[in-house]
Amino acid sequence: MKNNGMETDAKGVLYIISTPIGNLEDITRRSVELLRQVHVIAAEDTRRTRILLNHYHIKTRLSSFHSYNQEKKAGKFISILNEGKDVALVSDAGTPGISDPLYHLVQLALAEGVTVQSLPGPSAVLAALTVSGLPMDRFVFEGFLPLKKKRKTRLKELAGEKRTIVLYESPHRIQKTLGELYEVMGNRKAALARELTKMYEEVIRGNLKDLAEMAGKRKWKGEITLVIAGSLIKEG
Ligand code: SAM
Repeated sequence: MKNNGMETDAKGVLYIISTPIGNLEDITRRSVELLRQVHVIAAEDTRRTRILLNHYHIKTRLSSFHSYNQEKKAGKFISILNEGKDVALVSDAGTPGISDPLYHLVQLALAEGVTVQSLPGPSAVLAALTVSGLPMDRFVFEGFLPLKKKRKTRLKELAGEKRTIVLYESPHRIQKTLGELYEVMGNRKAALARELTKMYEEVIRGNLKDLAEMAGKRKWKGEITLVIAGSLIKEG
């Protein structure tokens, strides 16, 4: 495909496209255009992505690319790229590869000499960090904490981290996780960002003790990102 006025080689281009984390309007015009033009869209959950495509009247074919089939499907997408056809990769929400499948496909594509391009856009990491009220000049992104093995070790490692820490968490584990974070890290400043860009968006800023106490008194729903102060920031 022609890109930025330059012809690429005979292979197709693999476009990594960020999609909204809630509000369907949060996507770039360039991304919408490319989603219209590519040969196929590799999507984590085709039903979720269909909602976005319908919103923008995009008719491009969807093909699933989930963590459980990514190795098998990666080969199929590479064949399409080798035929000179472009492929767009999207995840359910936000930036592909950020706690979502992608790494394997990019590795394969690069090994095959395929051009990989990013169409940047939303990601819950940066959205939560920027509204947290905590230092954002240096931060670490941990994604989801391990569920069993290595969880304690990871928590202890994070307790020594000087930079602001960003974690993803599910609503049914949030109470347990906040309790553990308070136990291991002490009463750090923290922010809980829930349902960003959606109707019930909220950001609760405070400290780990208060957040852990409050977590036990509420029923949690929706998507949550936690931002925690690094070890050098005074306690909350
Ligand atoms: N790739 C996505 C990104 O770039 O943000 C993240 C995918 S990960 C499987 C999903 C997790 O991201 C959720 O469990 C939640 O922790 C976080 N998340 C996604 N959307 C969010 C939102 N609107 N508000 C707060 N956190 C969100």
